[in-house]
Amino acid sequence: MENFEFVSPTHFVFGRRAEEQVGAKLSEAGARRVLVHFGGESARRSGLIDRVCASLDAAGVEHIELGGVRPNPEITLVREGVRLCKEGGVDWILAVGGGSVIDSAKAIANGACVDCDVWELFETKALDHDVLPIAVVLTIPAAGSEASKNTVVSNDELGLKTGYANNAHRPKFAFMNPELTFTLPPFQTAAGLTDMYCHLLERFFDDVGAVPVTDNLNLSLMNTIRAEAPRVLADPENYDARANIMWTGMLCHQGLAGVGRHEDWATHGLEHELSALDPAITHGAGLAVMFPAWMEYVYSENPTRFAFYGQAVFGLTPTGDANADALSAIDETRSFFASLGMPTTLAELGVEEDDIPKMLPTLAQNKGVPFGSFKKLTLEDAAEIYRLAL
Ligand SMILES: [Zn+2]
Repeated sequence: MENFEFVSPTHFVFGRRAEEQVGAKLSEAGARRVLVHFGGESARRSGLIDRVCASLDAAGVEHIELGGVRPNPEITLVREGVRLCKEGGVDWILAVGGGSVIDSAKAIANGACVDCDVWELFETKALDHDVLPIAVVLTIPAAGSEASKNTVVSNDELGLKTGYANNAHRPKFAFMNPELTFTLPPFQTAAGLTDMYCHLLERFFDDVGAVPVTDNLNLSLMNTIRAEAPRVLADPENYDARANIMWTGMLCHQGLAGVGRHEDWATHGLEHELSALDPAITHGAGLAVMFPAWMEYVYSENPTRFAFYGQAVFGLTPTGDANADALSAIDETRSFFASLGMPTTLAELGVEEDDIPKMLPTLAQNKGVPFGSFKKLTLEDAAEIYRLAL
């Protein structure tokens, strides 16, 4: 087991009507003026924004609103949020939404406490500044951003989609009501399940040997996703299935499933370039295509690890040939994503061979070269993995 530090300051309020406790909890924590940050108008139409604001009103907490976060959140709206916070004396940020809204809120929370342009923080990864406290009302279980140290924001002008990790912007509260996810469309539910599962794969496959306490937690979460996915897709209003998925999504990315390991994250890097190339590409859908391709390219570094994964998650019987077992595990992974309705090729995402060279310079800029840990990848390797995914 490698040395590690693990910080998890999030106070979870989980269950039916959790969002109605927002005002009381934030007031108790000292919030006086909150920026309520959200995405499309559906959050308002559903009445959720009104309920949350009523809860803040009842607790005497002032609030201003900033909606309009798009999937793959963009730095322009973040800058607007920073301006509102600085000019409006905002002392807390409340993200109402999924990963994109939370990531945008994290960026604002950092930007509100520095004098430089907020994008500079994504470039320098500076950690030596204050961050406004963040609370979350989660509506889309997927990214795990409600408790994670990560944010990923796009800069359309520069054609970049860049991550930034800071323990100081882990949310202080996460209000998680599974009923808020009943109306998620099947594709969005499936893309979320895929993203969660890939957060586990990124941690399971690296260059560290077995770490049983971490690995068993990780595999248990993979098995939970595999069991709950068909239940929730068949019956979107199944409270228990939605609840298990919502909590699992958090556990997949808050950090515990990777402690003592180096983790890999090459495939997320490869996927972020797809979403930067075309912001219409859903993160989970991009991952469903890229992960099996990455696996095929790298498994020979340590086929036993893949064979072990195949046995633990898909119940595969060892054949005595670790390479064959590894390939079976990869096939099962691809089939699982396909069973959720996810794409299996870049062609289905509208990405062609000519697009590959366009993604490599920004990949190098975002990830550095070499990148990944299970196998250290060059840009030539990356191009080959994209080709395998065509
Ligand atoms: Zn992800």
